[in-house]
Amino acid sequence: MNIKAIDLVLAGILLVACSSTKATETGQYVLKNKNGMEVALASYGARIMGITVPDRDGNLADVVLGYDTGRAYKTAEDKPYLGATIGRYANRISEGTFSLDGEKYKLTCNNGLNHLHGGSVGFDKVNWKADKFKNGVQFSYVSKDGEEGYPGNLTITVTYTLTVDNALEIDYQATTDKATVVNLTNHSYFNLSGEGSPTVLNHELMIDADVFTPVNNTATPLKKSQRVAGTPFDFRKAKPVGRDIEQHHEQLVLGKGYDHNFILNKNQKVAAELYDPASGRLMEVLTDEPGVQLYTANFLNNSLIGKSGRSYQKRSALCLETQHFPNSPNRPDFPSTILRPGEVYKSQTRYRFSVR
Ligand code: BGC
Repeated sequence: MNIKAIDLVLAGILLVACSSTKATETGQYVLKNKNGMEVALASYGARIMGITVPDRDGNLADVVLGYDTGRAYKTAEDKPYLGATIGRYANRISEGTFSLDGEKYKLTCNNGLNHLHGGSVGFDKVNWKADKFKNGVQFSYVSKDGEEGYPGNLTITVTYTLTVDNALEIDYQATTDKATVVNLTNHSYFNLSGEGSPTVLNHELMIDADVFTPVNNTATPLKKSQRVAGTPFDFRKAKPVGRDIEQHHEQLVLGKGYDHNFILNKNQKVAAELYDPASGRLMEVLTDEPGVQLYTANFLNNSLIGKSGRSYQKRSALCLETQHFPNSPNRPDFPSTILRPGEVYKSQTRYRFSVR
């Protein structure tokens, strides 16, 4: 047995030894349910490090990209937000500015001209306090007034709960002492054949959205939203992710693949469904958010070596980031992302796993 294999066996013993919630390395937690589903979490970035679920024959695989130690998330040169909580504002704020109550705010611009995923030190790059409970972990963090340019001290909790029906629930809550903007999401990269598998182009995806927000050349939404009908963005009936991705459609060229916000249909029950015909694994995404960002890992380029020693290539995973729409602080026509003192920001997303 080589060293890697020994490590894996030891890691396996450690996981098996864990009951429902138990720390492994400092700041890491493993949740387990009776069906063999396991979720590994880390305080750094209040992040999902692993989600292990059975396939149709009962074989287990970890279906999210990540590293095998918490430390690797801090030291890795390239940081594509693997599994992290994203905030204070998920996705882009155009030119890193917005006005609120007559005051203009200037945020860190860390993505060309724009502010992306909370700035240079977003919620993905800070240590959260962790409180374990029976089948979950609650992470909390106080984002100081002025952090990355945002107004108000924001107190946030992100609570992960593993349910008996193989769902991972994520509950976000936040309060502020000064009017601010908030948009929280999780940036997990899924490959239902198991992380390190070469592609998700064969996965079948459904998104319950008639409309998406096309983007300009800095990836922020154009003035007019667009109907998906007759475009490669029509996922209303499940279709393979790769079916239309190479079409010469202006928006796919701009995004280098899918990297777009879908406006979820009102009264949708299951916002999105991802199915891997090879393994039979199915993931449903349930949320009370109005949008979801489909990102087909267009910028992964083999430079990251994941937890099982395999490199992560372009389109070897996809993200379904539930959210308010990008650049909402500058778009009065979009649902508001303003949070005021006395109000409570609340949002829930569930990733529910089964087989077909
Ligand atoms: C964004 C992409 C970005 C990626 C970073 C996604 O949410 O929409 O444009 O490159 O996150 O990993």
